Amino acid sequence: MSGDTDWRVRLSSLTVPLSVSENPFLSTCLDRIIRIGRLSHDEGVALMNESSLIGVKSLADMVKRARFENQVFYNRNLHVNTTNICVLACRFCAFRKGPKHNDAYELKPEQFVETISQHATQIDEVHTVGGLHPNWKVEEYAAIFSAIKHDFSHIHIKSLTAIEIIHISKRSGLSIGETLGILKDAGLDSVPGGGAEILVDSVRDRICRGKESSDEYLEVHSVAHSLGIPTNCTMLFGTVESINDRITHLVRLREQQDKSGGFQCFVPYPFLPDSSRLPEAQLATSSEVVRMIAVSRLMLDNIPHIKAYRMNLGDHLSSICLNAGADDIDGTVGHEEIMHDAGSTTRLDTPEGELIKLITSSGSKPIRRNSIYSQYTEVELDDPTIILPIARG
Ligand code: SF4
Repeated sequence: MSGDTDWRVRLSSLTVPLSVSENPFLSTCLDRIIRIGRLSHDEGVALMNESSLIGVKSLADMVKRARFENQVFYNRNLHVNTTNICVLACRFCAFRKGPKHNDAYELKPEQFVETISQHATQIDEVHTVGGLHPNWKVEEYAAIFSAIKHDFSHIHIKSLTAIEIIHISKRSGLSIGETLGILKDAGLDSVPGGGAEILVDSVRDRICRGKESSDEYLEVHSVAHSLGIPTNCTMLFGTVESINDRITHLVRLREQQDKSGGFQCFVPYPFLPDSSRLPEAQLATSSEVVRMIAVSRLMLDNIPHIKAYRMNLGDHLSSICLNAGADDIDGTVGHEEIMHDAGSTTRLDTPEGELIKLITSSGSKPIRRNSIYSQYTEVELDDPTIILPIARG
């Protein structure tokens, strides 16, 4: 089942949990979603302040089930970064290095292909982003993509954040459309959502000055959609933004989706702190993460998939989010630097069977998907008796 338009009809026929039916505000939200499909900005803020987290979570879970029943999606992928050298220095970033840093690196196409070759039979997607390299132009990226497709035509290339695309286009003297056109011809299949942070420029000015503006982020995704390149979108929360800023972010993505329609999946994740970066960050608790996933599901009526990104959230919190509105848990990943440099301790050697167990343990049915959610394979746990029954609230 995909994110079809009949989900509101199915929502109206689901049993309403007491945590929703006995809460006048949440009952109104449910009624509004069934009747017109969309909550307002003010209702989004009220959901963030609603005292019953169980109620908000249960309402989001209803909407997720109306769309996808108890299915949860994952894929078999590998994260490989092109370079950690970056001309910017976003205050939350633990990944970037200056060009002369001892740990700075840049992968040549043959090194990239060699890295993939060790995993090629187990994956069908490579997710690759990196810093803003001071010298690379569109040719360097096109060479990497062409080399991947030459050796591994079955692998979907999901690559380049909006700010990387802007940086490459400026370095190459090309428009965003021309840059994406060249990269698409070289093998780029889709664009990840990284770099959205919070789409409020006063917040961006404090956490990532010099990065693209909110409008520019949305414009890059709009151009990609117009070229038939699907994209994801993200949100980094728990830095210096307000509740109102978070809802503004969701509404801006929703409005963009109304216009260009190419967002597949929304991926909200909290800032992972250490002692050196952004000491004034408010940080998000686990309850706040669950709420943010739930409110994202309720506000983003036109973006089908909500991802609990296990590389950031960790496996245990991610599995809780699967009953709070999320329908996707990302992939096998295998290698990851950006979140782990920032402090993530999520295992990188998780076999597919463990991922299936994680999904099953949340009471969900694991479905392996391809990168663009057009092919699905139902999978089963080898030994389902090792999973305890789920009690639902
Ligand atoms: S978040 Fe991206 S653009 Fe910002 S410093 Fe890190 S690598 Fe560079």
